[in-house]
Amino acid sequence: MATTERDYYEVLGVDRGATDADIKRAFRSLAREIHPDVSDAPGADGRFREVAEAYEVLSDPARRATYDRFGHAGLRRRGFRPAYADFGNVADIFAAFFGEDLFGTSGPMRRESARGGDVQALVEVDLEDAFTGTSVELGLEIAEGCERCESSGAEPGTGAVTCPTCQGAGVVRRVSRNVFGEFVSQRTCPQCEGAGESLEAPCSSCGGEGRVVATHRLNVDIPAGIHDGQRIRLRGEGHSGFRGGGAGDMYVAVRVRPDPRFVRDGDDLHTAARVTMADAALGTTVRTPALGGDLEVEVPPGTQPGEVRRIERQGMPSLQGKQRGDLFVRLDVAVPARLTDEQRLLLEEFDRHTTEDAYAREDEDEGFFRRLKSALR
Ligand SMILES: [Zn+2]
Ligand SMILES: [Zn+2]
Repeated sequence: MATTERDYYEVLGVDRGATDADIKRAFRSLAREIHPDVSDAPGADGRFREVAEAYEVLSDPARRATYDRFGHAGLRRRGFRPAYADFGNVADIFAAFFGEDLFGTSGPMRRESARGGDVQALVEVDLEDAFTGTSVELGLEIAEGCERCESSGAEPGTGAVTCPTCQGAGVVRRVSRNVFGEFVSQRTCPQCEGAGESLEAPCSSCGGEGRVVATHRLNVDIPAGIHDGQRIRLRGEGHSGFRGGGAGDMYVAVRVRPDPRFVRDGDDLHTAARVTMADAALGTTVRTPALGGDLEVEVPPGTQPGEVRRIERQGMPSLQGKQRGDLFVRLDVAVPARLTDEQRLLLEEFDRHTTEDAYAREDEDEGFFRRLKSALR
């Protein structure tokens, strides 16, 4: 059914003798003015359809002849039905008439389905866990696909209808005018978020989102050798997207708690072991903490305070491959803090029998003050 009984020539603002070119020019000019995506004026949509219908008739010589002789009634008798009745969208009418978009855009910017957001989580593990690798269970509030509507957002048994706000284009256009001219801006339709469709009835479980927030339990594998501050990315473990859109990622930031026994330097570990003054002078073995279990460290006779023993491949495992760091053990030589009378006598006796030669070091040529300087550096 036609939307107007108004005279088509009057609608387009041309006289009865107008040429095809005049008619086309008049239609284009009117369309730009009153296209409903452009004009905020009430009734713009209806007026556009009226103009489109007038153009559809007057631009076709056979229809125009029928109209000239028999008017609207003549067209109806011949079964004329305005083309827009088959289109859901006035923008499509433009395409039908001109094979182009009047506003110079290349099709709708549809948001097919928005990807869900990423999820951040923090886990804390002990250095021992970082040494062996571990698995941590997380419980997080995460948006998951809605089971009731299978993420479609539509109540089961209902479908989608063309979005009334954008007529299915997925975008809405706004024209602003100022002294420099006319500016057309386009943005994603706020009602359908670019889908071009809206739900007949939103799912009663998710309210049309296609996702629901639920407590999600998952185990995160923390690989051996993980470093403090590293993040593990779990693809697709983040929030589900809007109406079936892909899920975001989960980022698990790992904090490795410091262990009072060790200082970590990359994959190497540093620790300290205590050796008595006598043991350092006489030589012994001492136990040192290590992550795979305590180890024996050989202390050769004449060990100096602060000397460091390097135990290869007893540090942290490397994240990349089978390498392992080393364990560095600094030997703290303990000097007695208090002595009994008997011990003092013995030490005095020892001292009387000892010359400077006994304290001479193999690396003596380095010089005492150079050693001091390098120690202070
Ligand atoms: Zn649902
Ligand atoms: Zn829309």
